[in-house]
Amino acid sequence: MKERVEELTKILEDANYAYYVLDNPTITDQEYDKYLRELIEIEEKNPELKAEHSPTNHVGGMAIDKFAKIRHEKPMLSLPDVFNEEEIEDFVSRIEDVHLKPSYVCEQKFDGLGVSLVYKKGILKSAATRGDGVTGEDITHNVKTIKSIPLRLKKAIDIEVRGEIIMPKKSLEKLNEQRKKHGEPLLQNCRNAAAGSVRQLDPKVAAQRGLDAYIYHLPDPEDYGLKTHYEALEFMKSLGFRVANLNRLVTSKEEILEYIEELGQKRASLPYDIDGVVIKVNELEYQQSLGFTAKYPKWAIAYKFPAEEVYTKLKDIIFTVGRTGQITPNAVLEPVIVMGSKISRATLHNEENIRELDLRIGDIVAIHKAGDVIPEVIRPLDERRDGTEKELVMISDCPICHTPLIKKEGLIDYFCPNEECPARNINGLIHFASRDAMNIEGLGEKIIEDLYNEGYLTVLEDFYHLEKYKEEIKGMEGYGEKSVNNILANIENSKKNSLEKLLFGLGILGIGVKNAKLLAKEYQSMDSLMNATKEELTAIHDIGSVLADNITQYFQNNRELITKLKDLGLNMKYISTGTGSANNELITGKKFVLTGTIEGIPREQIADFIEQNGGSVSSSVSKNTDVVIVGKDPGSKYQKALDLNIMIWDEEKIKSIMA
Ligand SMILES: [Zn+2]
Repeated sequence: MKERVEELTKILEDANYAYYVLDNPTITDQEYDKYLRELIEIEEKNPELKAEHSPTNHVGGMAIDKFAKIRHEKPMLSLPDVFNEEEIEDFVSRIEDVHLKPSYVCEQKFDGLGVSLVYKKGILKSAATRGDGVTGEDITHNVKTIKSIPLRLKKAIDIEVRGEIIMPKKSLEKLNEQRKKHGEPLLQNCRNAAAGSVRQLDPKVAAQRGLDAYIYHLPDPEDYGLKTHYEALEFMKSLGFRVANLNRLVTSKEEILEYIEELGQKRASLPYDIDGVVIKVNELEYQQSLGFTAKYPKWAIAYKFPAEEVYTKLKDIIFTVGRTGQITPNAVLEPVIVMGSKISRATLHNEENIRELDLRIGDIVAIHKAGDVIPEVIRPLDERRDGTEKELVMISDCPICHTPLIKKEGLIDYFCPNEECPARNINGLIHFASRDAMNIEGLGEKIIEDLYNEGYLTVLEDFYHLEKYKEEIKGMEGYGEKSVNNILANIENSKKNSLEKLLFGLGILGIGVKNAKLLAKEYQSMDSLMNATKEELTAIHDIGSVLADNITQYFQNNRELITKLKDLGLNMKYISTGTGSANNELITGKKFVLTGTIEGIPREQIADFIEQNGGSVSSSVSKNTDVVIVGKDPGSKYQKALDLNIMIWDEEKIKSIMA
C-alpha cells in the first residue's frame, strides 16, 4: 500500500511537472483525476499514509480560523517603477558607468500577488504573502491547492523561492459568470480576484478558483553555487518550479526596448494579465556591488505599460435616460477588444465632454479602460477624418417620452422632467421580470439596470427584443455566453405565462397578485378585460370603484403596448391548471412542511392545495425540504428550517398563492 501511495504521488507530481513546467502534458485530465481519486481513497482509509506533500492537497484541506503572520527571512522588496524609454536609458547608463559589460534579464511583470515559498528538505513548509515586505500572511493552506506549485521538489534541499500567484483570464471569466448568477458583485480584474482567492480561509474555495503561479526570484542564489540570475531561473526550473518561458537574456538597451515592444504586442493574447516588464542585472556579482537604496534594489526596475489604447469607429451617439431623468450620451462603437473584453459602448458623460473632446460621429477614436475597468473614449484621431464626420446635434426632447428636456440650475446635465417617463421607471422593468410577475429567471435588478443603462431595455416590450442585442450583451463587462443564452431562453419561455402573471407584471395601480388572478379568471382573456366597463368591473366582488377606474384608465392609455406584446407572441389568456390554481409552478414537484397556524385556513386545506398542485407535504424538515410554511406560534421545525437555510413562506405568501 505504501508503495502504491508513493507510486501515485510520483505519477501525479510528474504529470503536474510535465503540464505546468514543461508545457507538455503526458496524461489526460481523466487519467489524472483517476489517479488522484485512487490516492484520496487510500489516504481516507489510511490517514497515516498521507504525506505532507501529497498531491491530494491540491483539492483543499482543512479551513483555518485566521491568518497567522510569517516574518520573511529576507525582506521582500518591491522594484522602482519606470514609465518611459528615458528612464530605462538612465537605469542602463547608471549601471554601465560602473561596470563595463553587464547582461540583463527581461521578464514579464505579472499582475498578481507576490508570494514567498519555503521548502525544507524539498517539502513545501510555508507560503506567505508579501505583506509590508517584512511580515506577510501565512497562506500555506491555499497555496497547496495550486497545482503549478510543487509540494515536493526534485531535490531534497532547503530553499526559499519567490514568485507571483495569478488568476488566468479564463478563470476570472468563469468565476464572474458564477458570481453574476448568484447576484454577487463582479470582480474587476485578475489581480483583485487572485488576492481575494488567496485570502480565503477555506482552501476548498481557493481550490475552485483556478489559480496559477510563476516563480521568478531566488533570494540567495550564491548558496547554490550560482553566478547569474538567469542560472537561478534555470535552477528553479530544474527543481520543478514553473518559470516563465518568455524570459530573455539580453545585453543592451536596444534589446531591452525590443523585448518591451514585443511583449506589448503579445500582451492582450496572453492567458494572464501582465502590466509591464521587469529588467534585472543578470550577474550576481554586479547585483551585490550595486546594492540597495532604502527601499529598492539598485539592480532592477519595473517598466509599466501605458494604459492600453485601441482605436475604433464612433458609429453613433445615443442618449439614455437615468432613474432620476438624467440624460446621458453614449458612444456606439464598432466592437473592439480592450484588455481582453469586447467593447461596443462607452459613456460620454455629458454634452460638454463631447464638445471638449471635439468628438464627431464617424470619427476614429482612441479608447482605453480607465483603471483597466471602465471603457473610456479619450480623443478623436483628427488626422483620420475625411470630412464626412458629423457634429453632435444635442437632442431637445426625451428620447423615450418626447417631453422637452430641461437643464437644472447649476448642472451641466439635461433632464427629462416627466415624472411618468417610462424610461425613468426602471422599477417597473424590475417588477415585470420579478418572480410573481413574468418570473424571468436570471434577470435581477442589477442586470436590468445594466441593460437599461446600455439602452437595450427601456420599456416593457424591449424584453422581447433583447435577442437582437445578443452579441452586444455578451460583449458587455461581466456577461458570459452561457448566462446570456439562459436569460434569453427564460425570456422566451415567459411568453407562455398565464394571463394573471402578465396582468400583475404590467404594474397597474392597485393590482396585486391576488387581484390580477381574480381578473384573469373572471375575464379569461386580455381582450375581454380591456373591453370591460367600470360598471362590469365593480360588479366583481373585491373590485371597488377606484380600482375599476385605474384598470379602465390603464387600458385606455396602453392599448398600443398591449397590442405590441400580443404581436410579440405573449400569451393573453388565462391558463387554468385544472385545479383552479395558476400558481402551481411555485408548488409542483416541491416538498413542503407546515408549522404553526395560518389564520382562517385549516392545515388540511393547505395540504390539499399543495397536493392538488403537484407538491407533497411531509411532517419533518430535512435538507430535502424545499419550502417550510410558517404560521403563528411555529414549532421547532421553523428553527430547523432556518438552520438548514430552507426557503420560508409566511402566512401572507401562502395566502396570496391560494387566493
Ligand atoms: Zn422622458
